[in-house]
Amino acid sequence: MNFDGGYTMTIAGKAVEAAETIAVINPATEEVIAQAPSANRYQLDDAVAAATAAFPAWAALTFAARRHYLHAMADRIEACKEDLMRLLTREQGKPRAGADWEMTGSIIWCRETAKLDLPVEVVEDSDVRRIEIRHTPIGVVGAITPWNYPVLLALWKILPALLAGNTMVLKPSPYTPLTTLKLGEILRDVLPAGVLNIVSGDNELGKWISVHPGIGKVTFTGSTETGKRVMESASGTLKRVTLELGGNDAAIVLPDVDPKAVAKELFWAAFQNSAQLCVAAKRLYIHAEIYDAVARELVDYARTVRTGDGSQQGIDLGPVQNRMQFEKVKDLLADARAQGAKFLLGGDVPDGTGYFIPVTIIDNPPEDSRVVVEEAFGPVLPLLKFDDIDEVIGRANNTVFGLGGSVWSRDTEMARKVAERLETGTVWINEIHIFSPHATFAGHKQSGIGIEHSHHGLLEFTNAQTIVMKKVTEAA
Ligand code: NAD
Repeated sequence: MNFDGGYTMTIAGKAVEAAETIAVINPATEEVIAQAPSANRYQLDDAVAAATAAFPAWAALTFAARRHYLHAMADRIEACKEDLMRLLTREQGKPRAGADWEMTGSIIWCRETAKLDLPVEVVEDSDVRRIEIRHTPIGVVGAITPWNYPVLLALWKILPALLAGNTMVLKPSPYTPLTTLKLGEILRDVLPAGVLNIVSGDNELGKWISVHPGIGKVTFTGSTETGKRVMESASGTLKRVTLELGGNDAAIVLPDVDPKAVAKELFWAAFQNSAQLCVAAKRLYIHAEIYDAVARELVDYARTVRTGDGSQQGIDLGPVQNRMQFEKVKDLLADARAQGAKFLLGGDVPDGTGYFIPVTIIDNPPEDSRVVVEEAFGPVLPLLKFDDIDEVIGRANNTVFGLGGSVWSRDTEMARKVAERLETGTVWINEIHIFSPHATFAGHKQSGIGIEHSHHGLLEFTNAQTIVMKKVTEAA
């Protein structure tokens, strides 16, 4: 199979091209590396029709049979891992280690999701009646994904949707459609035709999915602003929605940590994937007693990290993925500079090819400055000083977002108490970005609606059906 060209959509198990195309750009070189199909409305109708046709047979399979398909998907993805990793670096910009993390995680996710179950719940089984709650598939699920982790975030939707008995039409981001299109291609002979349809196109295609009357649920990962639009569009047909949206996660560093020991982990908490991670630490609150020491260690470590073209050896951080995001981050930096921010590192974006932003660390900017309030989604980190636990919890929670957060302390009981008071869907203690297919991932407040992963996430791809059955007795 050719991973360097021939990008086609997958509809009803077949390769489909489109009259219009989207140019896909390598963010490290700004070269157009491919043209991806841009589906028109009729092609979306075709994809929904294929998914609708495939649904009855897929839903009628046993759970065990669908589990078997998930394992077959894992095997096929594993066989293509190296090619997908290379393509991921070219279209997304992430270095090899990041591409490996994403692909390894994807394979694990297939096999672990297959362990989930949807048992019938029996709430009454008396002499007179039996009441059962079943969880039935919804039908055709529409999925819309972003550009930071195109493969993993697509599979976070595909796997539970299919396991629960639904079929799917999935649209990747127009910035990173290639790995997802190849995923569709390599799975064409693994899954029955029509079970997984991949269509690519611009934002308009996402809107068409959200309003399509043949789609029963939309599962979306992306920005909070777009999530609101998806919810609005989905309301016309009362689609079920799961929205995994933006975040502005606080990391809280208590005074008992060893600054040198924690600096490396804090750095990666913030800058992993060039900080294009929904749950990156985006506000680093450090206790005043150790603020200077942590800042110094962090800057020292940051100086050892190399930013560059992810396809080159020895590169730790790649570019920002696209020009739109690059301009957004540059604008945020210009605003910080205009407000008199003190840059401990970075801050100047050099002219040149590629969407490269140097690692930037800002010294204690005002709490209401844009660089603190907004989600940068790029390698810019404000360090913020605090004196008191109640104060820092208040500041951490003072945001419309509620995705994740982290607490760093040798006193794990104290850290746990702080964690419990954070208004976020996930809190990590003394580590970060550990995800499990068996643990819920959900945004509080404007970071989302609904849950991904675990039994709870699987339920989101089902309708509940209660069967109340009066028992037939001899006398009746
Ligand atoms: P985005 O919202 O711009 O785009 C996401 C997807 O939505 C793309 O496929 C896009 O084409 C599509 N889209 C755009 N307009 C649409 C519309 N009107 N209707 C339907 N679909 C539409 O987000 P992005 O810039 O690709 O990703 C970055 C954002 O995603 C960040 O805010 C980040 O925090 C968030 N994110 C969240 C999670 C999470 O799980 N919570 C994970 C990764 C990224």
